[in-house]
Amino acid sequence: MTTENSAQSNTPAAKRLDVVIVGAGFGGMYAVYKFRQMGLNFQAFELGGDVGGVWYWNRYPGARCDLMSVDYSYGFSEEIQQEWTWSEQFAAQPEILAYANFVADRLDLRKHFKFNTRVESAIWNEEKRLWEVTTDKGERFEATYCVMATGPLSVPKDPEIPGIEKFKGRLLRAQKWPHEPISFEGKRVGLIGTGSTGIQIVQEVGRQAGELFVFQRTPSFTLPMRNNKLTPEYVAEVKRNYKGIREAARNSPNGGVRPVITRPFFSVMEHQRKQILEDTWNQGGLAFLGAFSDLMQNEEANEAVADFVRSKIEEVVNDKETAEALKPRGYPIFARRPCLDTEYYETYNLPTVHLVNCLKEQIVEITEKGVRTESREIELDILIFATGYDALTGALRAFNVVGRNGLKIQDYWKEGPQSFLGLMMEGFPNLFTTAGANGPSALANLITINEHDVDWIAGVIEHMKKNDLATVEPKKSAVKRWMDIVHALATRTLVSKAKTWWTGTNVQGKPHGLTMFTGGFNKYREHCTAAADNGYVDFSFEPREERKAA
Ligand code: NAP
Repeated sequence: MTTENSAQSNTPAAKRLDVVIVGAGFGGMYAVYKFRQMGLNFQAFELGGDVGGVWYWNRYPGARCDLMSVDYSYGFSEEIQQEWTWSEQFAAQPEILAYANFVADRLDLRKHFKFNTRVESAIWNEEKRLWEVTTDKGERFEATYCVMATGPLSVPKDPEIPGIEKFKGRLLRAQKWPHEPISFEGKRVGLIGTGSTGIQIVQEVGRQAGELFVFQRTPSFTLPMRNNKLTPEYVAEVKRNYKGIREAARNSPNGGVRPVITRPFFSVMEHQRKQILEDTWNQGGLAFLGAFSDLMQNEEANEAVADFVRSKIEEVVNDKETAEALKPRGYPIFARRPCLDTEYYETYNLPTVHLVNCLKEQIVEITEKGVRTESREIELDILIFATGYDALTGALRAFNVVGRNGLKIQDYWKEGPQSFLGLMMEGFPNLFTTAGANGPSALANLITINEHDVDWIAGVIEHMKKNDLATVEPKKSAVKRWMDIVHALATRTLVSKAKTWWTGTNVQGKPHGLTMFTGGFNKYREHCTAAADNGYVDFSFEPREERKAA
């Protein structure tokens, strides 16, 4: 349905919709599919040129998902999971992007998106009880509902180092990587950032570049991925059992299939502990992470495991000073997101790869020629930023989202993000977020979360349709109760004890604190299910009729 809302010649008429969807990552793509099934009238937008979200942008060498590919994929469509075949246990970015494209083609999703389009504002019109949405193309839309599938990691962050604009070499950002191949051969390359992204770049570019200088401030703990090709037998077995695999994922803390260990660290003898650590280390992937049940609660256990990893670094890295600098200290292991690598530490044994320890030799500025530290200027042809994101809240705060009574999202989230279930905010009626900042978000499989969240949103919309309701928003008491749960759980985990994007400490001026739900995806799902099954008592609804009569 299209209605003409503006008679003025200069202002384009607003197109009337049921739903506006922002984002063409896995959340936005599934929302498009779901809402089409429901017969809704919607339009989706994406700043990038195509589907894939973070996998569209992150084309840097070595980009790979460290969740298993059979887990990190949609479970809603039997056709998709039977027709698509993963080649590796941990898929690389080109394969994940190909998967997103396959889904978009197979389900004919692309036609519902306006690509290369930035949504600039979403403003609640109280009188019409609609979201007024504008884009950078000058288009206007009016929608009953807004679904922000903008992702937790979509606003890249440059380092706060002076002189970036002076650099005369080639500056590359991992999160906005060029589409054409880049040659590092014979080049002097600098890399700032050693989180998951930086680690993946080091192990790839370190083997290609003439010389690689890795500027490391905080070392990360990283575990061996031990990736492997999937055999046809394994694939066939997975395809036969997808139903069970998805069900297990939906009932697991991390939204994927991984054994849940109930064994506390000190419940077994020291030699057994060592053996378990060795075994899970050799097994690779995320096995090590799940070796014991209490590593995020028991500091002594955590430190012992951290020591084990430090001893592995020492075994691999030949140069003693480099090995020492690579050993993370001063924060609990797994309190920064653990990385999975393929011979990351081995890369530092190459004579062409140099670690610059920024804790001892701080970066002072970026110059025309390269990077100046406190003790030298390092000349570079290429400089790569792998310096992370304004995560969790950055995407929504980046545009003009204004709810009831002129309430801006920036003000509502001044002290940090708040919401009910990470899905809805008081004062922002009919606006939903998927994989929101107060859900399990980055702590679980984002495809599983996105599917769940879209299904939950669809349930609310169905409920409103059935009961002829015009608006929905969570009650203040519900938001408070949820945030009390989130904050209480946050105090019980060592995750709060590291400076990371998880706690907002990587961005200057951002409120600090762990605002994600740390109780696990399965518990989160229980809370969301209960919020619907109890008749949505934690929400305020406005009936359609009431306003008509007024
Ligand atoms: P990140 O974890 O936030 O790491 C950013 C890095 O940049 C840190 O090492 C940080 O050091 C460094 N940095 C920032 N400003 C700096 C400065 N001025 N000087 C020196 N160093 C500076 O970001 P990311 O590596 O992009 O990862 C973000 C998230 O994306 C991951 O946690 C993960 O969830 C996701 N990801 C996943 C995969 C995967 O599945 N394998 C791969 C890549 C990314 P400090 O810590 O000292 O600030």
